[in-house]
Formats: sequence, C-alpha cells, structure tokens
Amino acid sequence: MTSAAAKPSRTLNRLAAQLRGSVGKCIADYRMISAGDRVMVCLSGGKDSYTLLDLLLSLQRSAPVRFELLAVNLDQKQPEFPAHVLPEYLAALGVPFHIIEQDTYSVVKRVVPEGRTMCGLCSRLRRGALYRFALERGVTKIALGHHRDDIVETLFLNLFFAGRLKAMAPKLRSDDGRHVIIRPLAYVAERDIARYARGRGFPLIPCRLCGSQDNMQRVVVKNMLQAWERDFPGRTESIFSALRHVEPAHLADPRHFDFAGLEAQRVAPMSEQDEEALAFAAAAALPA
Ligand code: SF4
Repeated sequence: MTSAAAKPSRTLNRLAAQLRGSVGKCIADYRMISAGDRVMVCLSGGKDSYTLLDLLLSLQRSAPVRFELLAVNLDQKQPEFPAHVLPEYLAALGVPFHIIEQDTYSVVKRVVPEGRTMCGLCSRLRRGALYRFALERGVTKIALGHHRDDIVETLFLNLFFAGRLKAMAPKLRSDDGRHVIIRPLAYVAERDIARYARGRGFPLIPCRLCGSQDNMQRVVVKNMLQAWERDFPGRTESIFSALRHVEPAHLADPRHFDFAGLEAQRVAPMSEQDEEALAFAAAAALPA
C-alpha cells in the first residue's frame, strides 16, 4: 500500500514543487494538454509512470483548464505479476482507471528465440493494445512516462548505432497518425524521479518479471552518460538543451536547410561608406 497518506517531509515538498514546475512548463511549452482533453496515463508500475500520474493529478487540481485523466495498465500476464497492486493503489487514489488484460507475454515467448531480447516485439504488442483501447475510449492524448535521461539515451543510441540525429519528442503523432503522444516528464531528470518515488512510497512492481535482459546498447549508453554526469555535472542537461536549440544551418542535412540556395540569399556587398560607418561605430563602442 502506498505511504501517500504519511506527512511528506519538507525536502519532499520542495522536490514535488520543483517537479510540478518542470512538468507544468513542459506541458505549456509544447501545448500538450488543452481544455476538454481526455488524457490516458499509461502505467507500468515503475517509478516513472507512478510519478507521471501523481504529478498530473496534482496539476489537474490547479490547472486553468479542465481535462480528464484515465490511468491504464496493460497486464501482459507475466509470471509473478502482482495483479492486485495497481488496482488497489488506483482505487485508493480515486482516479478513474482500467486494466487491459492481454497475454502478450506468451506470444513474445513463443515467437522470440531463446536468448534474444524480447523488448522490440513486446513493446510493439503493448503499443497496439494501448492504442486500440485509446481509440475505443475516445482518448485524445496518450501520456507516457519517459524522462529527460531516456530522451538523451535515445539520442546517443541513434547517433552511435543508427546514424541518425534523432531522439524522442516530448509530443508526437503516432506512426498510424491516429494518436497524439505526450511525454510530460521530458524536462525531469531520472534521479529526481527516483528520489520522488522513494519519498512518496509508490508500490513499485519489479520491471524484469518477463525475464528479458536489458538491451546491452542502452546499458552501455546509460553508463557512459552517468560517468559523464559524475565527471562533468550538468552535461546531460546541456545535451538535452541542445535538442531544444537546433541550428540546421550548422548541420549537414539538405532536407532541413537550403544549402543549394545559399547564393541567392547572399546580401549585396557593402559599399566603402558602409564599411567606414561600421568601423566608426565599432571604434565608438570601445572603452575610452
Ligand atoms: S523488459 Fe520485458 S516487459 Fe519490458 S519491454 Fe522488454 S520484454 Fe517487455
């Protein structure tokens, strides 16, 4: 059972305020939620999705617009999955929720050869089940618990292994074009989520019940970023900030910048008088 009823410490209150601020800013920056939205919050039972739901509920109480929240978990029928934990937690919170039951676990076990990572197929099946449910229920936004570190990890995975300058967008349209996905934790660091989840005492469900191994490439990238962060605090934030300040003219993709047409954009050369005027202005700006 959650310890949400226990009196939160001052440190936890400060952290909660900081996280609410980051999530609120992210929602505003990307216009993630509008009046009348029906937001489906996908819950896995991990720290990220509990934190996401908790912060969205808190923002819902004070938001200037009215929107609905619907918590949804997909019970994939993994062995030992404690199916009672989320319904009990959500019922105690009083938030509308639904548990989709679909045995994707057996499908994945049957199809993926022993020893190979199951996450690719598993995620596709999970996505399909959640998207179907969203359509049936008239959901207008699907909220996922990915955070800043997930986004930066994905950037490096794509850089190192796919030759693409591509991460995870805070807001996007699904590949089938029928859904809008939002990631309101995009500005939040994973370590802050971990602290918050500990402080709030969420009833976490272990994430390896499926028996799958971590994706090795992701582990390597995660370790690299953590080592950088230890040696150069703030580096992950700086990388994330770069994703928000892209300068296509200083990259090399002709689809995003008209390199071919640069000549036509060139301004006329300066006259001698203009150059003199500029030199005077520069000299005047120097300290006496
Ligand atoms: S870790 Fe397990 S449950 Fe999660 S995506 Fe991979 S196979 Fe699926």
